[in-house]
Amino acid sequence: MINSTMKYVQSLTMQLKPDNNNDENELLTASKYFWKYLKHNMVETIFGLPGGGVVPLLQYFPSNMNWINMGNEEQNGFLAQVYGQYTNNVGILIVTYGPGICNSINPLVNAVKENNPLILISTFNPNASVNDFQNTDFRKILQGATKYCFEINKASDFAKNLSMAYNTSKNKNTGVALMINIDILSSTIQNINMRHITYKSELSSNAINKIRKKIVHNFKKFDKTLIVLGKGNFTNFNIIKDFIVKNELPYVTTSKGRMIINNYPHYCGRLGSIGNHSANYALYKAESLIVIGNLSGGLTNEVSQFYENRFSIGLNYFTNQSQDNRTKRTRRCHIGRNCAYTRRKRSGNMSNLNHKKTLLQLSIDDSTFIIDKDNNNISSYIIDDFSPVFHQLKVVNNPLWNRSLKHANNKLLVPLASKSKLEQYISSAAEVYSSKKLDIAVTTGVGNHWYSCNKYFDTTIVNSWHSPTTLSSIGVGFTNGYGMYLAQKRPIWIFEGDGGSAFSFNALVYLYENCSDLPLTIHITIDSYYSAIVTSYIIKKKIPENYKKSDPPGPWMKTNKTPKINYMKFFPDALEFNNVSDYASYINKTPYTEKLRIILLNISDEDPINNIQYGNSNIYEINFNKDYYNMLENNEFDKIHQSELVIASED
Ligand SMILES: [Mg+2]
Repeated sequence: MINSTMKYVQSLTMQLKPDNNNDENELLTASKYFWKYLKHNMVETIFGLPGGGVVPLLQYFPSNMNWINMGNEEQNGFLAQVYGQYTNNVGILIVTYGPGICNSINPLVNAVKENNPLILISTFNPNASVNDFQNTDFRKILQGATKYCFEINKASDFAKNLSMAYNTSKNKNTGVALMINIDILSSTIQNINMRHITYKSELSSNAINKIRKKIVHNFKKFDKTLIVLGKGNFTNFNIIKDFIVKNELPYVTTSKGRMIINNYPHYCGRLGSIGNHSANYALYKAESLIVIGNLSGGLTNEVSQFYENRFSIGLNYFTNQSQDNRTKRTRRCHIGRNCAYTRRKRSGNMSNLNHKKTLLQLSIDDSTFIIDKDNNNISSYIIDDFSPVFHQLKVVNNPLWNRSLKHANNKLLVPLASKSKLEQYISSAAEVYSSKKLDIAVTTGVGNHWYSCNKYFDTTIVNSWHSPTTLSSIGVGFTNGYGMYLAQKRPIWIFEGDGGSAFSFNALVYLYENCSDLPLTIHITIDSYYSAIVTSYIIKKKIPENYKKSDPPGPWMKTNKTPKINYMKFFPDALEFNNVSDYASYINKTPYTEKLRIILLNISDEDPINNIQYGNSNIYEINFNKDYYNMLENNEFDKIHQSELVIASED
């Protein structure tokens, strides 16, 4: 066990007892026990690619489990974590040592950054040197990818460490590596009663009462309290919904939260520069926040102010930074599983720390599942089950606050305008989705289609939206969609760009060849370049405003072309659209099919609006500048509504 996990491991209070039941007390080899343990924990499907290093494990693969291999460890790993997330369990990725582990680093880091539960499992030869065939210092590589690296060196540790890896991934919603000494797989181990090694974090009744009091305290009659719904694999969302609705509480969602309660008048929209003005207004005016769910996964500006603004809130900006020589301080109470709203101290920058004093300085490495730090009026709790917290909880709402938000909603709770052709394609799909109240999950890859989907899709049913925010590795769209289907067995709309399609073309071919009977609608937006990068060049003025189609492309374009793929050659039954109205009409008539379909949305180079080349995949978003804050401050709804949307770039 590596040092960084010791503290956490010691904190788990599992009891490892030999079982007295004769049936369960049999001696098993480690390999057989491995599968029995996963089956006991309701893991039905394994993702992986075989190799010599894992054959000793795979030869005992049980007949009542499913094995899925999309062709490489990277796609298998992306797929596994989405499956784990939406089965409210873990995704198991089995890879061979050597290149198998190397290919798995991207999905492992993705799981860590996006808070998806994934266990990367491989073996190691304890006698190998780093220079041996297919070997290197994998311990070092894996420790760079996740802080939760477990090793099993002795048969006597097998049950305990396997359980540690499983429970860490599940309870912390994160990526975990488990390396097993290949020599012990054939060793016999005494079976352990599995009831004793299934960890469940539970709050004491005292802790529950403390949270309930904290919530009631936050909702004082004249306080402007707002609920923020973040990401969560909420298995008991109805209890949260009942709490909000019965108490008539105003709420907003983050980009990852995205849950709308139908016909509820106190829903204020989605936060962020590609969200709704109404949500930003509510957040700006709120004096106290209750966050339910997970704000990690790129939703703080610890990663990037750019991404925080887009996907969540500009929450730090709104609630903590000085504006016009005035510091807004907002009380917060975080509630949720894995709510890791963290901020590290920045050495030598105390003014910044003071400035941000309402932020919680908390790490999920604190080795406990219940954390209550009253530091700066902020508390955070990590819990599995919301029921005891919200059950029949009555709070006093503020009717004046509710009324003012409702008034703002009337003016501001509308989709942002769509300007570019990409935006128009996606917004027309989103309009059909909302108007028909489709019970379809929506997933994306990464790129400008991703921003566009984030901007326009409003999903009402919980766990209907999966889109990256933090690591944002290109080419995850197909696996996101397939993973969601495997977990939920319902129709999926997948959106991917041409860059992502080229990156993960094997996944597209896999779906086309192996999943033709599944209700997967795969959209690919095609503009022949990496459009998010084009936006950067436009902002840098490498592409002049008057750049015409007839002008030769600059040398930068050589670096920015997506690989050419003749989609109709590979997928002759794909549906191809060249204009938005044809596609809008089609998707309106046929939002759902029982079988897999591929829809190609072509985006020409020419921009009919701005008459420039390369502008047709731009994303136009709210400009979080001083003027915008002033308009929010002064309740200038018409001006906010009419404010010009702008293109933005990370760099
Ligand atoms: Mg593109």
